[in-house]
Parts: sequence; C-alpha cells; structure tokens
Amino acid sequence: MWHYKLQCFDCQREPAASEAGFRCKTCGGLLEVKFDLKGKKRPSWDRRQLSVWKYREILPIEKQESIVSLAEGGTGLHRCKRLGRKLGLRKLYVKNEGENPTGSFKDRGMTVAISKAKELGKRKVLCASTGNTAASLAAYSARAGMECVVLVPKGKVAGGKMLQVAMHGSKIIQVKGDFDQAFETALVLAEQRRDLYLMNSLNPFRLEGQKTLAFEISDQLDSKTPDIVILPVGNGGNISAVWKGFSEFQQLSITKTRPRMIGIQAEKAAPIAKAVKRRENEILPVHNPQTIATAIRIGSPVNWPKVLKAIKESKGTAETVTDTEILKAQIELATLEGIFVEPASAASIAGLKKLRANRRVDASETIVCVTTGHGLKDPSVLDRLLKSQTGYNLEITDRTSLDALERVL
Ligand SMILES: *Cc1c(COP(=O)(O)O)cnc(C)c1O
Ligand SMILES: [Zn+2]
Repeated sequence: MWHYKLQCFDCQREPAASEAGFRCKTCGGLLEVKFDLKGKKRPSWDRRQLSVWKYREILPIEKQESIVSLAEGGTGLHRCKRLGRKLGLRKLYVKNEGENPTGSFKDRGMTVAISKAKELGKRKVLCASTGNTAASLAAYSARAGMECVVLVPKGKVAGGKMLQVAMHGSKIIQVKGDFDQAFETALVLAEQRRDLYLMNSLNPFRLEGQKTLAFEISDQLDSKTPDIVILPVGNGGNISAVWKGFSEFQQLSITKTRPRMIGIQAEKAAPIAKAVKRRENEILPVHNPQTIATAIRIGSPVNWPKVLKAIKESKGTAETVTDTEILKAQIELATLEGIFVEPASAASIAGLKKLRANRRVDASETIVCVTTGHGLKDPSVLDRLLKSQTGYNLEITDRTSLDALERVL
C-alpha cells in the first residue's frame, strides 16, 4: 500500500488519528482518502486478474491479512451493438455491476471498508440503506465474523435485497419514512454507541473500493478513456468515487484524459440534477422522494458536494428520467442485450436515451453506462411485465385452447 492520509474535502484539514466519526470537526465537511501519487509509477499490474484488489497499492489497507473478500469487481464491460444501433451510437458499453458477489457495485466499497474495520479492530458494523448497501454489508460482515445492524425504510426495500439481509443473519431495524430518516437514525446511533462502526458512504474507505470501477473501465479499454460515463445517482458516493478513480489514473499517467461524468436521477427524487440544471452550488433536499427505482429514492444525498464538483470539473451534466422511461429502458436492455438490471440501474440507459434525443451526445463518442445492480433484486416489476405479454393468460386444457395458442405465437 502506498502512503495516504485522510483529509477534509472542504477545508483540507487533516483529522487527528484519535478523531472518531466521518465528518470534519472544524467545518463539518466530508472526509476523503488522499494518496500521495507524486512521482509514482504504475505498478506491474498486468499479470493480475481484473478485480478490486488488483489495485491494492492504491487501496487504504495496510496488511494483506486484513483483506475480507468474496471476489468482487472484474465485472464485464459489454459492447452493446444492438442497443447502440437503436440509439444511433457506435460505441456503447455497459459496465455491469450486477455481476458482483451480492449483485451490486456496493461490494467494491464493502470489501475495502470491512477490511478497514477489521484492521481497526471493529466488531460491530451499522448502516442505513435502501437495500443494496445492507445486502452487501450483511454478506461481508458474515464473511468477517462481525455483528451487523441495518436500518431500512419500512416497506420500501425490494424483496430480493431484504431476502439477502435476512439470510446473512443481520439485525434488521425498520424505520418509518424514507432512506433519509433511516440514515438520520443511523447517525444518532453511531454517535451514541461507539461500538457500532458506521458503514454508510460517509465512510471514505468505501468510496476507495468503488473508485476501482473507473480503473477497470480504463483497463478494459486498453488505457483509453471513454468520452462519457453515465451513472444513476442516489447518495452520490459512486459517481464521486468513479471520478476520483479516473483522476488518479490520469495522475499516474496511465490515461491521458478523463471522461465527462453524467449523473441520472429519477424525476421525483432529483435534488442533484435540479441543482446542476439551475447551475446552483448547493442542493435543496427533496421531501418525500418518489420512484420505483428504490435504490435512488433519496431526497437528501450526503455526498452532494463531491458530486457537484465531479460534474463541474469533468464538464459533465445531470438529467432526470421518469419511472416509465426507466421501466422501458430496463426491458430494452434485457431484450436487446441479454443484460438484466434493477430499475435504478436502467436509469443510466433511460438518461442516455434522453440525452441522445436532445443531441447532447454524439454518435461517435465512446459511452459507458454503469448498470449498478442485478435485476433479480427487485421482482416487483414482474406483474407489469406479464400483463403486457399477449397469450400469457391462456390456459391450455384441450385441443381448442392449443389452437388459440397457435394464433398468438
Ligand atoms: C446504491 C445504488 C445506487 C446509487 O449509488 P450512490 O452511490 O448512492 O449514488 C444506484 N443503483 C443501485 C443499484 C444502487 O444499489
Ligand atoms: Zn473541514
């Protein structure tokens, strides 16, 4: 591991080693891991398999024995020719994070943050979550032999994700309201109970793992940078982490350029996209956010300062999409490319369609859409899907109904 320090994202102050918590004690800003990359050369990575830990020199874990892993990262970067043709794009790729051990990109961050927790001697971990962070933490804490407490918004977590959390034996606490209320509760709990280590994306070690998504994209494109990277945005940890990753590869002279970062939010849960569109430097939280894409149903995203900076520095943008657009994109990706993603992930495709329709991306640009989670996590779309299929309600009982079947095939 190369040398790093923790630093405040706003005032640049470095917290003392004894300071607890994940906010700057001076200004309340977010903390960030900073590696000293000056004069550093690219390690000899080429023989290592594509994975999060391929990049261990620039991950903040000191000892190899601390690493808690389930083989995360190394996900496919799929060229999408059929979908690309439909959108009039020649070089469209999907980086499919549903291929991670618990089915979402959260595993990239969790393997690093749990390893850090182990290195720091923590025994109990805590998070608030719309589902995927909880599913990931549940698995990794089990793997590490730690106790795990998750706070989720009552009745608003997709079925597959709840199943994962319950299966791995976490303590589940349901909080009335949305993710934002669950997160507030988690902050209070972490403050009161110092034995509970907070694993939300305020935890800068998680974002370090997530930055490897950018490293992998660069490696999979033979050190060429895509022109545009599009991600769904909830709390904004991932888009900021991916931007950090591209920036670090550029500092190491592995890549020459950085992509434009484009964040997609659901129309009724879009505090960041609204701030970007209005060219404002701060966000206004959304009360009672609504969308079927539960993973991005967040009204008060904690990482917003990092997101606004990433979008501005990269000359990127943000866009909103409706639930109908999200569901349509989900089906298109599944039927045209064989890639099944959860609704929040399909927001990146829906957003691209909208940007393309408005001529804000060119036909020749290299575009990577990040699909963040696996489709099986959220089976609630099934009913809607089947209703739209002709013939589904036919029951085959005799020869005449077989004839009816022939007519619909
Ligand atoms: C967590 C999550 C997001 C949002 O990521 P942020 O880092 O909170 O912006 C998007 N899609 C899926 C599937 C997720 O699990
Ligand atoms: Zn500060």
